[in-house]
Amino acid sequence: MPKGSAFKRYNYGMIDIEKIKQIIGMENVLENEDMSRHTTFKAGGSAKYFLIPDADNIGKLIKYLKENSVSYYIVGNGSNLLVKDTGYNGAVIYIGGEFDKCEVSGNTIKALAGTKLSKIASLAYKEGLTGLEFASGIPGSLGGAVTMNAGAYGGEMSQILESVKVLDENGNILNLNNSELKLGYRHSIVMEKHYIVLESVMRLEHGKKEEIKAAMDDFARKRKEKQPLEYPSAGSTFKRPEGYFAGKLIMDAGLRGKMIGGAQVSEKHCGFIINKENATASDILELMDYVSDKVFEKYNVRLEPEVKILG
Ligand SMILES: Cc1cc2nc3c(=O)[nH]c(=O)nc-3n(C[C@H](O)[C@H](O)[C@H](O)COP(=O)(O)OP(=O)(O)OC[C@H]3O[C@@H](n4cnc5c(N)ncnc54)[C@H](O)[C@@H]3O)c2cc1C
Repeated sequence: MPKGSAFKRYNYGMIDIEKIKQIIGMENVLENEDMSRHTTFKAGGSAKYFLIPDADNIGKLIKYLKENSVSYYIVGNGSNLLVKDTGYNGAVIYIGGEFDKCEVSGNTIKALAGTKLSKIASLAYKEGLTGLEFASGIPGSLGGAVTMNAGAYGGEMSQILESVKVLDENGNILNLNNSELKLGYRHSIVMEKHYIVLESVMRLEHGKKEEIKAAMDDFARKRKEKQPLEYPSAGSTFKRPEGYFAGKLIMDAGLRGKMIGGAQVSEKHCGFIINKENATASDILELMDYVSDKVFEKYNVRLEPEVKILG
């Protein structure tokens, strides 16, 4: 399984935890934090350190971690993430609460990376701005959505992102425009360069509120109808292979409802592996491998995980 985007391939260096507490405040340093609390799969092991920086101290934190060769991994809303049962022996950096702010100016919205996409989409609706309807039901943060170039129902982040402010591995701030972000199918330069998304500006268009509302309601209805939203998951488990749909391949391979431990190929949508009954991360990973192998045997198509695996 590939590692996720912001995974640092250092040795797990020594953290001077008192120093970290000085940088981000002792109340923002958690140890042995259960990551099932921070992922929509609601499964998996713990992170040795769970750090909650804010916009003022994150640069200093990254510099410190880099200088001391400490592995770190960025987590937003954890809706595309699975942490192995054995946990992560480095520092998870949570881009959430302190990074929650969005404001409108004309037809642009500027938001901090931890802001939920649903919140930004509803602000856009209130202001009569169209372009973000596709994002209203994606349960991620803005930072995660930029990193993944999240998309649905014909829309994706690449269509609306004007610029993104990121932090590089050395703690420097860069401003990237849309073309510099190298946005592709569930891909961006943020993954390649291990940047951290801090904030971004989205350019929308003025539209009719009733049409925006109708589109959002329609997408929400479709999601409810087709997706197993009643169970924990990370959305589509696999990327769409070129020329195919992962869910259809899995269904045609006869895997609908297949269970390993508490993990199941959703009966409602075969593209989703769900945490049906207290699944462990190992159950989910084993089922992912099983599904991928069976589909390969039958159709000679290799399914690649869309979900990021940490640990
Ligand atoms: C029910 C359900 C439905 C879904 N539907 C869709 C859909 O329609 N379309 C879609 O594209 N996705 C969908 N997803 C997947 C997920 O919501 C998106 O990929 C989302 O953009 C992930 O955002 P996040 O904040 O949860 O990221 P996380 O899961 O926290 O992280 C995902 C990746 O982004 C990186 N990352 C997160 N924040 C930052 C940051 N600030 N800077 C740098 N890297 C960062 C992480 O390191 C990780 O590699 C769905 C998930 C669920 C559970």
